[in-house]
Parts: sequence; C-alpha cells; structure tokens
Amino acid sequence: MVSRVIPVEAFDLVIFGATGDLAQRKILPGLFRRFVAGQMPDDARIIGSARTRMEAGEFRDQVRAAIAAHDGPRIDHPQLDAFLQLLDYVPLDAGAPDGWADLRGRLRPDVVRAVYFSVAPSLFATLVQGMSEQGLADADTRIVVEKPFGHDLASARALNEMLSQHFSEAQIYRIDHYLGKETVQNLMAVRFANILLEPLWNAHYVDHVQITVAETVGVAGRGGYYDDAGAMRDMVQNHLMQLLCLIAMEPPVRFDPDAVRDEKLKVLRALAPVAPDDIVRGQYRGAGAIAGYAEDVDNPDSRTESFVALKVRLVNWRWQGTPFYLRTGKRLRARASEIAIVFRMPPHSIFDTPELPRANELVIRLQPDEGMDLKMMIKEPGPGGMRLVPVALDMSFAEALGEDGVDLPDAYERLIMDVIRGNQTLFMRGDEVEAAWAWTDPVVDAWAAGTARPEPYDPGSAGPDAATQLMQRDGRRWRDMRN
Ligand code: NAP
Repeated sequence: MVSRVIPVEAFDLVIFGATGDLAQRKILPGLFRRFVAGQMPDDARIIGSARTRMEAGEFRDQVRAAIAAHDGPRIDHPQLDAFLQLLDYVPLDAGAPDGWADLRGRLRPDVVRAVYFSVAPSLFATLVQGMSEQGLADADTRIVVEKPFGHDLASARALNEMLSQHFSEAQIYRIDHYLGKETVQNLMAVRFANILLEPLWNAHYVDHVQITVAETVGVAGRGGYYDDAGAMRDMVQNHLMQLLCLIAMEPPVRFDPDAVRDEKLKVLRALAPVAPDDIVRGQYRGAGAIAGYAEDVDNPDSRTESFVALKVRLVNWRWQGTPFYLRTGKRLRARASEIAIVFRMPPHSIFDTPELPRANELVIRLQPDEGMDLKMMIKEPGPGGMRLVPVALDMSFAEALGEDGVDLPDAYERLIMDVIRGNQTLFMRGDEVEAAWAWTDPVVDAWAAGTARPEPYDPGSAGPDAATQLMQRDGRRWRDMRN
C-alpha cells in the first residue's frame, strides 16, 4: 500500500504552556509520533515556552520523560534523540516584557509559523497583546486556541472580538479534539462518499439518534475549573454539539473548511430551545472509598452537574420528528463514546418468527476501538426454519486499514498537522462557537436561577434513573453503556 503520510512543509511551532499537562501529555508526544511517522520535516522547530526558567536541554529532558510516561514503548525509539533536537525553549511570563525579544529572535522568516495557546484562557489576551507588540501577530501566523472557548455567549463573543483585532478568521484554529478523531471524519466519508445511507438519513427512516460520551473518572484534580463549568458547558456545548452537527448537517458543496462549517452552523441555528422536561442533571455521590462530587470539588453545596442527559430537537426539514438524545457524565459505568443512528422498524414483518425484527442501528464508536457497526437482521444459520438474529457488520478501521506498525494518528497530532497544512476544516469557526453558546446559555441560566439540585447517581452506574425515564417515556431506551 502507498504510504498515506503526506509530509508537511518546514514550520516553527511555538507552544505557550509547554510545561503544562496538555502539552506534556498530548501535544509533545503527539508531535513525536508524527516525527516517527515521517510527517515532520527535519528542519521543523518546536519552541516551548512557559514561566519556568530552564535551558533548552532541561526542556528536552522533560519532554523525553513525558514521552516515556505517555508513550511508553517508544522511549527507546532510535528517532527520539533526533526529535528532541528539534526542540527549543524560551522562558517567558505572558504579562512581563522579558523573553519576547528572545522568542522573536528564534523564529525564522520563511517557514510556516504557528502558535499554540496551551494555557489558561485568562492568559489568551495577554499573550496576544505580547505577540502584537513584538510584531509576532502578523498576517501569516496561525494561532491554536484550546477549549474552553468562553464560558457563555458574552465571553465567547468578547474572546472572538479580541482575537479578531489581531488575526483574521483564517488564522484562528479553535481546537475541539473530538473533530480530530478518525471515526468522526469517517462519519463524513461514510455519509458523503457513498449513496447507500444518505437516502435513509432523515426523519422518514431514522427513529432517533443517541450520542453518549461516558467517563469513568471523577473530577478530582480539575475540581476548580469543573465546578464552574459542569457537564453542559464542559462537554455538551462543544464536543457533543460538534458530533451532532456532523450527523445532522446537509451535504456540504465541497469538503472545504467554510463549506463544511457553513452546514454545521445551519444545524446549530436549527436547534430548538430545550424544554425543562427534556433535560436531566445528575451529580455522582460517594460510595465506599470513592469520593462524591461535592468532596472532589471541595464544595458541599455545589449544584453543578457531573452528568447531563437531554432530548434535542432540530427544527428543519430533514429532522422534524427525529429526536437526538445526548448524555455525558463522569464516574459512569464505562469509558465509552459513541453515536447510534437508530433506524425505524420495517413497516411490516413478513416473518412468522418468535423473534421480532429489531431496528437497524449504525453505531459509530469513538472510543474505545474506533470503528463502526451496522446492525442488521439476518437468518440464523443452520436448519430449524426461519429464525432471525441481529448481527453487526463490523468496520474496525485499525484492523481494516492499518498497516503493520503504523498507528492511526490520535486526534491532537492530526489536528496539529492540519494547522501546519493550513486546513481549518476540523476546527470550529467563531460563529459556530457563538451559536452553540446561544443555545446553551438559556439552559444553564435557568439552572442558576432555580433552586433545584442535580439528581444524585451512584458511581459506576449509567447516571440517574431520570435519564433512563427520559427515553422510556418516549418508548425508547438507551443503548447499554459498556467499554
Ligand atoms: P496546566 O497544566 O495548568 O498548564 C498551564 C501552562 O501555562 C503551564 O505550562 C504553565 O507553566 C503556563 N503558564 C501559567 N501561567 C503563565 C504565564 N503567566 N505566562 C506564561 N505561561 C504560563 O494546564 P493544561 O491542563 O495544560 O491546560 C492548558 C489549556 O488547555 C487550558 O486552556 C485548558 O483548558 C486546555 N485543555 C486542557 C486539557 C487537558 O487535558 N489538560 C484538555 C482540554 C483542554 P509555568 O507555570 O511554567 O508558567
């Protein structure tokens, strides 16, 4: 098979926040994997920056340890030393004048320049200001902005406005790493590169859609941030909304950034406000040695949701009458993310069998084991007359397409390479982010204005009972939550 790795051109990538958790756990190990895959040119340069004062050599040692911790077997990789040689480091406090001239001096004029803001959002404006004063916010610089992109519509607008004073929209890469997942992109390929599904992809044939993003971990360690955000802001406004957009959108004219993002925006604008009865909030309680949410965030009175389930309606031609059920939460039974398109039943069963046909389902697994299953009814093999059984036509991408020894890139590394290539298709545009907040704000504002508390649920469960009832009252049920 011809190599699918397309090398990118020479670049300087500045990572603000290079000593932080995200950079050390995801960004730098991901860059190393791209280097090993042959996607990164030998003259690429990665310049880490943070307040911590250290020499480039110490930073390389830190990254070597980070790769060992997060990419175990590759620590002995023969190319690790060559990769580390691409790294440089400039100490710099965002709010202070020192260090900027040094950083500017290390950047080359004729290569792609990208700056990754892997720092708290409260530092974005200060860093942009510093870049601007140093002439680093020029028309060719690309910036990568991490989530959360705002806390509500007003703050997202303010952030967009601040960025737009220094950068054009074409320079801003708002990351949602869910969009970098192989399966998510494959969803677009399966929908738009085949004729098979698209005629069925509407309210006439789809009964409902389920999107589940379940985590087994609690919020300990990020309690401060999380207690201010909650599941609705932390997960639904961005990741689940982006997945919903890719399922619900009309076919874009071309697979190019603005054509795709225009269609996603139309979906966000077609979202109906969520009725209070269509949403369930939950908060995990403690059990045995497992601390409850309130203890994890050190706030006994917290009314923040660690779980949310909701029924979402789209008011448009294609989806009128087909609800989208979303749920996400912490300390749940499984670490599993999936989308299930549940089709309607055949209008009439010709089979006189004890087993009724079951609805076809297209299940798109984001984790674990990225892939898709198409669940269909077939005849149970063997004698004994006509008996129906459901089978899954399994499309496991890594198995079907992975070459020996070549991993599929993870979401972060793919997205960083897209930044270097200048491809914004898998990044959120400013108006999309604002539209998602405009839909989210009334929900969280109503919670804040009320006195109700989230429903408690047991760690290791599938969330509060009320979430099960949200589906049951419509004569439907959630798929089992399992790894
Ligand atoms: P973190 O571990 O707290 O790291 C923050 C980084 O910012 C450190 O390198 C810190 O280094 C640097 N920093 C702090 N104050 C600074 C200043 N005044 N000037 C220059 N650098 C400064 O945070 P993180 O978890 O990596 O998260 C970074 C960003 O990614 C945040 O926006 C977060 O919301 C987002 N994010 C993180 C994750 C994740 O899994 N961690 C996931 C999604 C999104 P010094 O102390 O040395 O300055």
